[in-house]
Amino acid sequence: MMIYGKTDIGRHRSSNQDEFAYSILNERVCFGLVCDGMGGENGGQVASAIAAQTIYEILHDHLTPELTDEQVKAVLVQAVSRANEAIYRRSLQQPEYLGMGTTAVVAAVLDGKGYVVHVGDSRAYRFKAGELSQITKDHSLVQSLVEQGKITQEQAKDHPQKNMITRAVGVASKVDIDFVCLGDIGSGSILLCSDGLSGLCDQAEMEEILLSTPPNQVCEALVDQANQNGGFDNITAVYLC
Ligand code: CA
Repeated sequence: MMIYGKTDIGRHRSSNQDEFAYSILNERVCFGLVCDGMGGENGGQVASAIAAQTIYEILHDHLTPELTDEQVKAVLVQAVSRANEAIYRRSLQQPEYLGMGTTAVVAAVLDGKGYVVHVGDSRAYRFKAGELSQITKDHSLVQSLVEQGKITQEQAKDHPQKNMITRAVGVASKVDIDFVCLGDIGSGSILLCSDGLSGLCDQAEMEEILLSTPPNQVCEALVDQANQNGGFDNITAVYLC
């Protein structure tokens, strides 16, 4: 597998609070992650940086191809939990960081099997046979309103509180983490992104870019499109292909 990543400040923000990281540990194991920070003056940047580094280090040290599905899940969940503890601890030490947090979406591929954990509204998609499908379900206010039937998917896109997330890494002593085992991903690929991409480009637009762009240029093309569509937020994409 190959992995590519790109982050961009966008056209309206004064700082980039997104972070991404990835690693190809060997021919059997690789992983990628995206974190989108929030809170305070610099809190968002600090939170996403702590999360990216903590998760990266744990996965780097503990992901090995011999692990069972349950063991992979345990490593991924532990990595995000440790990030949660590290951010929360830091926020208690420095008052200006109080309440800071971050999203996290992490994908690992071991011997062709895909695994995803996430918290917040950063997303994972699967791209297979020319079709893009969303793997993760946002932990966001608008997603829960859609599920309750109070607003439509269409209304969610322009909702005034579309940025409000209902779960974040680092805002409390513990965090609930969602896990998905994708099974054998075959010739498919995985796209991770922050809401600066998924909120600015619709799924059909992203799918068209994935279909028409060489894999090593996919992240740049997606970021360019989100900027063309307004660039209202920081934009980040990681592509495992
Ligand atoms: Ca964002």
